[in-house]
Amino acid sequence: MRAWILERQSKIEDRPLKLVDIPDPEPREGQIRIKVRFCGICRTDLHIAEGDHPLHKKPVILGHQIVGTVDRSRGRRIKEGDRVGLTWLYSSCNSCKYCLTGRENYCPDIVRTGWDVDGGFAEYVIAEEEYVAPLDIPLKDEDCAPLMCPGVIAHLCYELAEVKPGDKIGLIGFGPTAFYLMKIANHIGADVYVSTRSRYHQEIAAELSARWIGNIAEKDFPDKMDSIIYFPPAGEMFTRALRNLKRGGILVLAPIASQSPMIVENYGEDLWGKDIRTVYNIRRSTIMKMLNLARKVDFSIDKEVFDFEELQDAMIKVRSGKLERMTAIIRVG
Ligand SMILES: [Zn+2]
Ligand SMILES: [Zn+2]
Repeated sequence: MRAWILERQSKIEDRPLKLVDIPDPEPREGQIRIKVRFCGICRTDLHIAEGDHPLHKKPVILGHQIVGTVDRSRGRRIKEGDRVGLTWLYSSCNSCKYCLTGRENYCPDIVRTGWDVDGGFAEYVIAEEEYVAPLDIPLKDEDCAPLMCPGVIAHLCYELAEVKPGDKIGLIGFGPTAFYLMKIANHIGADVYVSTRSRYHQEIAAELSARWIGNIAEKDFPDKMDSIIYFPPAGEMFTRALRNLKRGGILVLAPIASQSPMIVENYGEDLWGKDIRTVYNIRRSTIMKMLNLARKVDFSIDKEVFDFEELQDAMIKVRSGKLERMTAIIRVG
């Protein structure tokens, strides 16, 4: 099969990925093989390619927003020909206290797609049957791909923030996860306040009927929020976020890395009586909840579709901030 492999990490402009021909992978008992149709590009792929996260295998095939058709099944539930998705959660131990209570995102032996094992920037990918998402939902293949990461993360943010109808939710930063969160909030009837500098993202937020759009680096939200979801991979807006939160409110931190410290300057004023939670990997229950919602909510997203051969150009475009779409995906087969 053709696959993009990463052997040595470096800046994406140095083109660290190589397109190679390697033998097709074969599933073991309990596994399936997916013929990949589309795979979304995630910031995490850039973090791994560029060395912000260490390599866990060498070479590795990145990509964890995978949609395809099962072409070989050695499982019991999933059949050949089924449309399935594969997320960042490749597998977990199934026996630790976290796995036994449905919180496998904290499993110390968690295995992540496109980092610990090969992912979807290839014609085929192997998956554990128990961890794939059956995609029997009314959504096109190319729209299912980003649902597998930002979509599921959006639902996890929504769960962690305990959003209720009528709540005021603040979003600091705006990307595909924020986009899906707005769709969920609109569905349940919560009001969303969006802080972003990007004109394009402000337009998208307006189309999604945001209650308020601005930039809280310059001006606070017009009200205190019941919950705030924080996306910047840096701490500069952290205190500002806390100050815009009600007592009893929940701040959910969504970045997977922070380039600068998140400092509580004034415990009594800013933090006392407020909760801080973080997004850490994903759970199967969250994947299933998001798929259930996809039967009621239209999760199609504005995206740029690149050919398989253009993966690295697409990643460079994402890195440079020149992608004037919500997300980028590659068409594999
Ligand atoms: Zn991702
Ligand atoms: Zn476990």
